[in-house]
Amino acid sequence: MENNKIQVIVIGAGPSGCASAITLARAGKKVLLIERGDNAGDKNMFGGAIFTQQTKELYPNFIEEAPIERAIIQHQIIMLNDNDSIKFSYKTNSNEIPNSYSVIRSKWDNWCVEQAIKAGAYFAPKTLVKELIIENGKVIGIKTEQENYYSDIVIIADGVNSLLAKQAGLRNEIKDSDVTVNIKEVFKLPKEKIEDRFLLDSANGAGAKILGGPLKNMFSMGFLYTNKETISLGIGISLDDLKKLKMKPYDLFEKFKSHPSIASIIKDAKIIEYSSHMIPEGGYNSMPKLYKDGVMVVGDAAMLVNNVHFEGTNLAMLSGKLAAETAVVAINKQDFSSKNLSLYGKKLKESIVIKDLKTHKNSVDFVKKHINTITELYPDLACEFFRVLHNASNEPKNEVYRKFLFRILKSGVIFKSIPLGIFAMEKCIKR
Ligand SMILES: Cc1cc2nc3c(=O)[nH]c(=O)nc-3n(C[C@H](O)[C@H](O)[C@H](O)COP(=O)(O)OP(=O)(O)OC[C@H]3O[C@@H](n4cnc5c(N)ncnc54)[C@H](O)[C@@H]3O)c2cc1C
Repeated sequence: MENNKIQVIVIGAGPSGCASAITLARAGKKVLLIERGDNAGDKNMFGGAIFTQQTKELYPNFIEEAPIERAIIQHQIIMLNDNDSIKFSYKTNSNEIPNSYSVIRSKWDNWCVEQAIKAGAYFAPKTLVKELIIENGKVIGIKTEQENYYSDIVIIADGVNSLLAKQAGLRNEIKDSDVTVNIKEVFKLPKEKIEDRFLLDSANGAGAKILGGPLKNMFSMGFLYTNKETISLGIGISLDDLKKLKMKPYDLFEKFKSHPSIASIIKDAKIIEYSSHMIPEGGYNSMPKLYKDGVMVVGDAAMLVNNVHFEGTNLAMLSGKLAAETAVVAINKQDFSSKNLSLYGKKLKESIVIKDLKTHKNSVDFVKKHINTITELYPDLACEFFRVLHNASNEPKNEVYRKFLFRILKSGVIFKSIPLGIFAMEKCIKR
């Protein structure tokens, strides 16, 4: 690097930053990937599973070579009421390549950085970018705690709370309603116990989304993923609901873990890790401006998370790749203007990133409006249905049915489900 000047600086070595760095390095461009952590992934946490499609496009041999934990072949939705639970479980037994794999971020992010370095990227860990250097409205470099670096293009990939995107004038202060606060614990359990509890064999794993019970009537959800010898379990709650709740997130998590159906999953397991992180939930309506002279923003820093399908890393990778492809064109033309970088916006619009975020632009608001139905009424009625079905008592069955039918009518569930049905239909037909 001459006089601390390089073609592209990428800030942040998460999924989006690594995608940008490897794409640029493979195209023969000089790229510096900067990460504040001692190692990539040290500061990162997620549920979590990475998705095969977008991951394979960047790292074709990741299934054979990367530190993956388990192939997620079982997907569960667990609904809790105050004491009971109902579980929908889907397990694929097909021979197709699984759609997702659980990974541990500290190992996974490091591996991705190694691939970027092998492709020719420079990597600077333990380097906190304090601010961007902006000259006549154009981003021309960065200030770190150690020294200043200059570049033709800066790609901001610093995650959800991107102070740098804000400094660049790309986005405003993040709203409370646009983020969820998430906490997660990692539980160590013998491998065989994990496999017994989830009916898995040694290579395969399960993921679950959990709603209701202690999380009812809030924009909140639990999540669970099986790793090789650990279970990742956590909850997320929107920041505005958390403020209304006046409860510390950890206390809510404790309540969640003590629900009998959750407690049995982690029984005898040892907590080996605790972490917390935010997820951007604002979606399409809260997306920042994506580029300006000399700068583009990718991944969580650009709010690119599909919160209905729990997709984040794949959109981060895809946006990182598309920004890098745009940077390659800009370098070849030696034109780093906002006009030229608008190609990134165009590429994103044509990809699933913007298409899917647009499809779900009003989904979070809709779910929030119907949160009681989704997180309290449905779990209650579903649990009650099974209790009625399997409760052999001395009460005649037609009396039992009559009471249950009355309960259903009184709850208004049929009426309350109409908007949900219409909403779901709309997503199928609206273009
Ligand atoms: C609880 C939880 C569960 C999730 N589950 C899933 C899941 O199962 N599947 C899925 O696909 N997605 C999931 N996500 C979302 C996913 O983690 C994110 O969408 C994804 O990590 C975004 O990648 P990114 O590279 O944009 O940002 P990040 O992964 O946040 O990476 C940003 C990087 O930038 C670095 N950085 C930040 N500021 C600076 C600075 N000033 N200087 C230098 N470096 C800096 C950070 O240390 C970090 O390494 C989950 C998220 C959470 C919080």
